[in-house]
Amino acid sequence: MDPMISKRRLLVGLGGLICTPAVGLAQPGLTPIPMERHEKAMRLAIEQGRKNPYYPYGAVIVRAATGELMAEGANETQSNPVLHGEIVCMNDYVRKRGNRDWEQMLLYTTCEPCPMCMMALVWAKIGGVVFASSSFGAVAASIGGVPSKLSAQDVVDSTSYYKPMLLGGVLAAETDAMFSNRKRF
Ligand SMILES: [Zn+2]
Repeated sequence: MDPMISKRRLLVGLGGLICTPAVGLAQPGLTPIPMERHEKAMRLAIEQGRKNPYYPYGAVIVRAATGELMAEGANETQSNPVLHGEIVCMNDYVRKRGNRDWEQMLLYTTCEPCPMCMMALVWAKIGGVVFASSSFGAVAASIGGVPSKLSAQDVVDSTSYYKPMLLGGVLAAETDAMFSNRKRF
């Protein structure tokens, strides 16, 4: 899918930078969230991303109602292939907060979640996911391709189990530059 179309569809589809609840699911406290708060949380995710200069994928989980930082994580795939930033962050959340209250949480990530991570977030029934870079633009150019054709939205569309809210493109210019300028081995 063309990344610009994908991003536009997400932004417009979500009511112009404001998350909208998935049909039929009650997710109180998630709307509306001012863009400044999305950007503040995304800056924390970018900080996490900078911890791995080779793969600057970072994530944080915040409480949707307050923006309180609940968990954080950076990509650790050099030690374990499944330890994407989102997964590390989810593990950090469970370790610190227990396996509960997911529906009240938002995960912010420097790059659109891959199908593995997006599905993990669906399994957790997290309230919403906000990402910066698309998987199909600067990130794909930087890592030399797209690991999966499935976008995060495709994964959400494909499941009837649970549909977290999704918002893309927050601070994407910054994260696109971060991925383009990442360290190479
Ligand atoms: Zn992933």
